[in-house]
Amino acid sequence: MASLPDTESEPQVDTQSESRTKRAALILNPVKPTTEDIRAIVTELSLEKGWQEPLFLETTADDPGHGQAREALKADVDVVIAAGGDGTVRCVAEELAGTETALGLLPLGTGNLLARNLDIDVDDPRGAVEAALGGTERLIDVVYVNVDRAQDAHVFLVMAGLGFDAAIMADTRDDLKDKVGWLAYVDAGIRNLPGKPSRVRITLDGRRRINGRLRSVMGGNCGKIMGGLEIFPGAKLDDGLLDVMTIAPSGAFGWFAVLGKLLARGKGKDPSLEYYQCKTAEIEVDSPLEIELDGDHLGKGRHMALRVEPSSLKLRMPYGKKDPAILTNPIP
Ligand SMILES: [Mg+2]
Repeated sequence: MASLPDTESEPQVDTQSESRTKRAALILNPVKPTTEDIRAIVTELSLEKGWQEPLFLETTADDPGHGQAREALKADVDVVIAAGGDGTVRCVAEELAGTETALGLLPLGTGNLLARNLDIDVDDPRGAVEAALGGTERLIDVVYVNVDRAQDAHVFLVMAGLGFDAAIMADTRDDLKDKVGWLAYVDAGIRNLPGKPSRVRITLDGRRRINGRLRSVMGGNCGKIMGGLEIFPGAKLDDGLLDVMTIAPSGAFGWFAVLGKLLARGKGKDPSLEYYQCKTAEIEVDSPLEIELDGDHLGKGRHMALRVEPSSLKLRMPYGKKDPAILTNPIP
């Protein structure tokens, strides 16, 4: 029989979780160009804060982030820093969504739309690591996507598309992307402008039905793309709502009308561009169309089921941003 403690005044609380030294995992996409030594920055700032040596993991062509994120979760780290583009972030988030483990963003490369939508500086790796280790936390929605009724769902954080926009992603030349950045998408966009609309059936929240001949259907969790353009005006990452956009240019000047309404933030009566909000969306086409999630080309599909999961991903943010959704206390 264990002897009782001498006094009752000292409660035997489990202080292990409190005193355990914290640890970050860095999941790095080694293909992304950077002049900084990302590993050295994460190590230096971790040790400075009294954290353990970080866990270093690299993405590969075969595993762009899932296995690495699962390994980080198994190692029970306190934060997982995704260093790469939106593709890396998306794969890591697919594993972290629904867990208590926070995601930190270290933007590398050209796009980084999630970081831009969160107003995170995309050119400050050191600041990004500081925010990941000691910033504030906020919860954001993720959107689950099942393609062709597959059991396994993907997630996206920024936007997904079926049709024209996904064809652009599939067609964008990597060599051009390295040279001219996002202008490479414009090149692919112009090449894909001609083309036939598809008959599309959309069901929102299991009730509202939209039928039409469309070039593209997009789902948005947030709205900003490059060049300051907001293609889902007012879309919020934490409102529990999915924004849906349909694109149906008609006639010789159809694409001008689409662009005009985009630039007018959706205002106007032109039906070539329409917006909806919902919690779930089902999109069906007769013949397979290209699909993209956060810029990752997924291949072709005929059916896409989208479902927003509110506040299901914990994100580390730079401390001090004036956003009411952000907690006011820094991470201890
Ligand atoms: Mg939303």
